[in-house]
Amino acid sequence: EKYKDGLSKTRNSFTSKVNDLVARYRKVDEDFFEELEDLLLQADVGFETVMELMDQLRFEVQRQNVKDTSQIQSVISEKLVEIYESGDDSSNDLQYATEGPTVFLFVGVNGVGKTTTIGKLAHRLKQEGKTVMLAAGDTFRAGAIDQLQVWGDRVGVEVIKQAEGSDPAAVMYDAIRAAKSRQVDVLICDTAGRLQNKVNLMNELTKVHRVISREIPEAPHEVLLALDATTGQNALIQAQSFQKATNVTGIVLTKLDGTAKGGIVLAIRNKLKIPVKFVGLGEKMDDLQPFDTEKYVYGLFA
Ligand code: GDP
Repeated sequence: EKYKDGLSKTRNSFTSKVNDLVARYRKVDEDFFEELEDLLLQADVGFETVMELMDQLRFEVQRQNVKDTSQIQSVISEKLVEIYESGDDSSNDLQYATEGPTVFLFVGVNGVGKTTTIGKLAHRLKQEGKTVMLAAGDTFRAGAIDQLQVWGDRVGVEVIKQAEGSDPAAVMYDAIRAAKSRQVDVLICDTAGRLQNKVNLMNELTKVHRVISREIPEAPHEVLLALDATTGQNALIQAQSFQKATNVTGIVLTKLDGTAKGGIVLAIRNKLKIPVKFVGLGEKMDDLQPFDTEKYVYGLFA
């Protein structure tokens, strides 16, 4: 279904290469390991994750006395899932307020698909029967407010906004007040994503975060970082700068449909220890899927 369609680029290239490797080698030996390592690196699984995986594979192959390459695919899948989920039990599910509005704060660099993701998530939550409101916190980029309004109209949710250039913290303040008084279930906040002035951006995010927590102490309930899967290892570098500015609680990996290097999902989780909560698989309203590790990894070796 949808899950498969969005990953077809990664799967087509990766799976056929792995199958080809398995067919060519038959025996698990050092040359086989080296070629497998190259394949994983090409799929953007990331150097450190690949090294960790290779160590574990060598160990497992010895322990289970795996000789035949046809047996190794399931071992690779198991180890990938293990690596992905190692080190923390943080959930891929969204966290909600026990009482009053839940606040999701979206951060990310311009162009990664943040606005589109907010629209898709609003649609998804509405379909689950929740009431949703959006806050147009990117007051910096020309057109950002209008673009969010377009999504608000499309999905049928209210957008709280001020004029371009106004203080994003003031927009958040208004939005939280509105969400409380209208008893909205979920408020999704957009933020600026300009990278030209990183220090200002990070200060702005800190301030926005502070205003939100002042109004609702446990909020934001999620700080979701949108990352573009097609930017590969660059996405990891972006994530690290956002982690310094805010307490990122989840990743939304966008445009996974547009890359054959879907291994970046594993690199992100393994390196950053932040769960990938959703993946973006297209430009339309329902092209957002909760991320399911096992489905994804086993899909790669199907
Ligand atoms: P923002 O600047 O981060 O808010 O990015 P936008 O939401 O404006 O998205 C930038 C472009 O990426 C737009 O053309 C979107 O339609 C496109 N886009 C966003 N998410 C996805 C996705 O999951 N898949 C694909 N193929 N395109 C996407």
